[in-house]
Amino acid sequence: MPLHTAKRCAMIKLMAQDTIAALATPPGNGALAVLRVSGSTARAVVEACTGGRRLEPRRATLLRVRDAAGHTLDTAVATLFAAPASFTGEDVVELSCHGGMLVCARVLERLLNCGARPAEPGEFSRRAFENGKMDLTQAEAIMDVIAAGSDWALRAAQDQLGGALSARVRAALDSLLDVAAQLVAYIDFPEEDIEPATAEALLAQLRELRADLGALLATATEGRILRGGIATAIIGAPNVGKSSLLNLLAGYERAIVSPRAGTTRDTVEERVLLGGLCLRLTDTAGLHESADALEREGMERSRRAGAAADLIIEVADSSQPRPAPLPAFAGVPRLLLLNKCDLPTHPDWAGSEGLRFSCRTGAGREELAAAVRGLFLHRGESADTLVAVNARHRYALQQALEELSRAEESLRAGEPPELTDVFLRGALDALGSITGQVDTEDVLDRVFSTFCLGK
Ligand code: GDP
Repeated sequence: MPLHTAKRCAMIKLMAQDTIAALATPPGNGALAVLRVSGSTARAVVEACTGGRRLEPRRATLLRVRDAAGHTLDTAVATLFAAPASFTGEDVVELSCHGGMLVCARVLERLLNCGARPAEPGEFSRRAFENGKMDLTQAEAIMDVIAAGSDWALRAAQDQLGGALSARVRAALDSLLDVAAQLVAYIDFPEEDIEPATAEALLAQLRELRADLGALLATATEGRILRGGIATAIIGAPNVGKSSLLNLLAGYERAIVSPRAGTTRDTVEERVLLGGLCLRLTDTAGLHESADALEREGMERSRRAGAAADLIIEVADSSQPRPAPLPAFAGVPRLLLLNKCDLPTHPDWAGSEGLRFSCRTGAGREELAAAVRGLFLHRGESADTLVAVNARHRYALQQALEELSRAEESLRAGEPPELTDVFLRGALDALGSITGQVDTEDVLDRVFSTFCLGK
């Protein structure tokens, strides 16, 4: 290594405890890969391993990344985003190089030798959060965008990234602070009792706040379903077309379709997209009486899958006599598909409420999609923004609602305002933890540890 370069690297290393680097694209072979460097010496680190080529902010620069001996490791395009106008709020350099496993590893190694250190998973986003570029719900939404498995999940994630949830939480925090501020006046002047009219107004404000937070909490089911998919059990008698339905929705022959009854003895699972939602379909063994021990075990699993499902799609063969009713699964929404509608309908099904469907022709698919959307997206579809909270937000909202109820009780009972204030502070803390305004190290660690490397 030429001496001046070695010295320069050593100097940068000393200054660059806080400059991080990582591959931002998945490891593997592809046309391009992006490496990201962030920190006060990001620019110097990249310049050091590219022979001192000056980087101009927001200008793509074609350059060579060289090893310590000066050999070219790769030709890359570097873009500098100078602080604070960058993703992390620090100086960031993005290096687009060729997308090979080895070339990326060598370029990263070179960046590390020139003074950066390897980033922890989620560290870029954590820095963005800590530098005020986004709040915690927006940071979480980045991972939701990446993990989105359906169009509606993507829309909800983008809305959250755009600040839709933050805005709702901020409005609630403002209202809560307003109530707390009014109470403080009485804490400062203990000789004055809270006027009944004032107490009534505060109670009304708290009730309204609770209704808003309750509505937000009610989006948790939608949130779970959008993030994890709708656990859907396909049930029905043997030979009605359950496996055919799974194959039709999956778009390929996932399950064995056979005219022989009892072919599906175990449960078969598949993720499919229907109407912009993700369904985790389970094709179960046919539900009927059977002496075969293996089939009986299969049916037992069907019952378990049905009981644990978010949605049951019951398939019936409309060309055949109506079979005995299938078991009820309390509390699980159920859609009845009258399959094989390409064949003449058996009179038993006249006037039946089910959805006419054919796995053979695909008839009824749109109607099925609309029915599923109707069951699971009733709030989201018409709204301008789709807010659907995650499990962490749900927990915080429950805490906030409990504290608000206590605050209301305390105010109604005429307890000292200091006591009511304690409950209001509890609610403020719980709400603040959603956006990260009130943050604790363990919450941040938990959130950012779920991120992938380079994010
Ligand atoms: P399962 O036992 O309920 O999973 O039923 P399968 O999917 O294995 O289908 C049983 C038989 O019905 C197979 O021969 C399929 O080709 C046939 N089948 C399935 N759906 C339809 C349909 O919509 N129309 C017609 N005509 N036949 C179908």
